[in-house]
Amino acid sequence: MKEVKQPDRKRIFYFYAIAIALLFIANMLLPSLIAPKTQSVSYNEFVTMAEQGQIKEAEIQSSENRIVFTAVGDTQKEQNQVYVTALVDDPDLVQRLLDADVNFTKIWPSTPSPILTALLPMVIIIGLGIWMTRSMQKKMGAGAMSFGKSNAKVYVASETGIHFSDVQGEDEAKELLTEIVDFLHNPQRYADIGAHIPKGALLVGPPGTGKTLLAKAVAGEANVPFFSISGSEFVEMFVGMGAAKVRDLFKQANEKAPCIVFIDEIDTIGKKRDGAGGISGGNDEREQTLNQLLTEMDGFDGSKGVVILAATNRPESLDPALLRPGRFDRRVPVELPDLIGREAILRVHAKKVKCEPGLDFNAIARMAAGASGAELANMVNEAALRAVRAGRDKISQSDLEESVEVVIAGYQKKNKILSNKEKLIVSYHEIGHALVAALQTHSAPVTKITIIPRTSGALGYTMQVDQEEHNLMSREELENKIATLTGGRVAEELALHSVTTGASNDIEQATRLARALISRFGMSEAFGMVAFEQVHNAYLGGDASMACADQTAAEIDRMVVELVRRQYEKARQLLSDNMDKLHALSKYLYDHETITGEEFMKLMEQPKLEMGISEEKE
Ligand code: ADP
Ligand code: MG
Ligand code: ZN
Repeated sequence: MKEVKQPDRKRIFYFYAIAIALLFIANMLLPSLIAPKTQSVSYNEFVTMAEQGQIKEAEIQSSENRIVFTAVGDTQKEQNQVYVTALVDDPDLVQRLLDADVNFTKIWPSTPSPILTALLPMVIIIGLGIWMTRSMQKKMGAGAMSFGKSNAKVYVASETGIHFSDVQGEDEAKELLTEIVDFLHNPQRYADIGAHIPKGALLVGPPGTGKTLLAKAVAGEANVPFFSISGSEFVEMFVGMGAAKVRDLFKQANEKAPCIVFIDEIDTIGKKRDGAGGISGGNDEREQTLNQLLTEMDGFDGSKGVVILAATNRPESLDPALLRPGRFDRRVPVELPDLIGREAILRVHAKKVKCEPGLDFNAIARMAAGASGAELANMVNEAALRAVRAGRDKISQSDLEESVEVVIAGYQKKNKILSNKEKLIVSYHEIGHALVAALQTHSAPVTKITIIPRTSGALGYTMQVDQEEHNLMSREELENKIATLTGGRVAEELALHSVTTGASNDIEQATRLARALISRFGMSEAFGMVAFEQVHNAYLGGDASMACADQTAAEIDRMVVELVRRQYEKARQLLSDNMDKLHALSKYLYDHETITGEEFMKLMEQPKLEMGISEEKE
């Protein structure tokens, strides 16, 4: 792939800024630079030297009230020495010098000429600037192009080198995009029959799911040039630049058709226009850019084979004008990968690194529920880094397992020391979660419990992994999950008779789940199948708004409190009935810091827990 970059506006700006600064400094230094090293002599001495015929050249600078002169010398150094003497009122001066055979000449420019100090460097700098831009443009084969045009990062690539086989777990998206690939292969066939292929397709999905990768793969599969520009690049530009850039991009694309134009992060320019009022300069610029984009999309002839792909993770924030027919009217969902997809993505990336034979990628994919393609790629890389650190030349299963946690929960903070007291609290807290989970029937099995702190801020965590992909949750499962979340706090209370802030995240999660159960999933008896809460941005996990009467809201709040309390009581009951297990397991975790799911279950099922734990407390 050959990437040709047009002159970067920022660089040119810096170039001029530095040039002007230099010019300024030069202006101040130049007079003293031009000035020769001088030696002052008295007028008497000057006259004596003249009479002795020692003066070679002289210049009378009446404006400066001085005479500058050089002497006849033996050495080069002496000859170059410039003398200065004050100009006194001496009517015979000129005659005296003529008698002494002195050459009248210019020795020292009295005031440095403005042409020299200001204009000349300016000319040089501007010349240099023009030359720089010219030579850059020559490299990209464009004709005379002014600064004001595009600085689009233009990829003129006949091959992006990416194929559909590089993108895994997105079969639906790939299927939708195959038609575009086919069209790019043979636009004429579609034109002959009179079919309109969509001008634009919008790739929609959470970050890191492979939207950019898919766009490149379309270009790679179709073997056409790939022009890519990111919406965020527009944001940092001067007024009017965005529109010019868009115009230029489409001009180039038209010349290179068939080709793909890819606009990444289109939401940064394509945000809903907020009608009247409060338009700042920045918004104005964005709007101009967006309008230009709309104009260009309407204006170009789709049958030529220019297909515009755009990517966003916030489709709901896009201006409806962008989504009208003839623009981005085709939507390609790019979702988080499922179990099979995750395994396939892990395998694709594992091919790029050396692995021990027989790795169980399925197990890793299972652990990494909810991870995006980018995170999975990162996991493989983390595993490789870990193998290198350990001095091995192949990735092992444990490298991969560890890297899942690294990516999901942040790096293990080996140097963050918990006090023993804190460690004990965290041990009880985590075992509390694990025990409540294990003592309920509809609950995902515990696979790992650890009290090794993470950079993410978590002091410990309990990992639960479903045996298979889990998309629907029953009310019972949701309630059990809330109970499990309260388990940490309950254990602290029961065993240590104290409560800490360690449970704050659990409390948030439990509250959110309870609220969703009542106001979103329609699972409460009082309200039935009514949703009061609308989630606008499911991808980013937030942005929910409530639409209900104040009274209903108060009622919902009351029910949330009630629901969480019930689950809390349930957890408390479960743990009180199993205090021996709580103590024994917590001690075990305290000593071992990390226990696997199997270890945990084995210990759970021992009728009498005798694990030889030191009996000292705290
Ligand atoms: P997005 O544009 O959706 O944010 P990217 O396409 O930039 O995501 O993905 C970043 C990287 O993550 C890719 O370069 C690739 O290495 C990896 N990746 C993401 N999704 C996938 C996938 N579905 N298959 C294989 N690799 C993927
Ligand atoms: Mg991207
Ligand atoms: Zn917790």
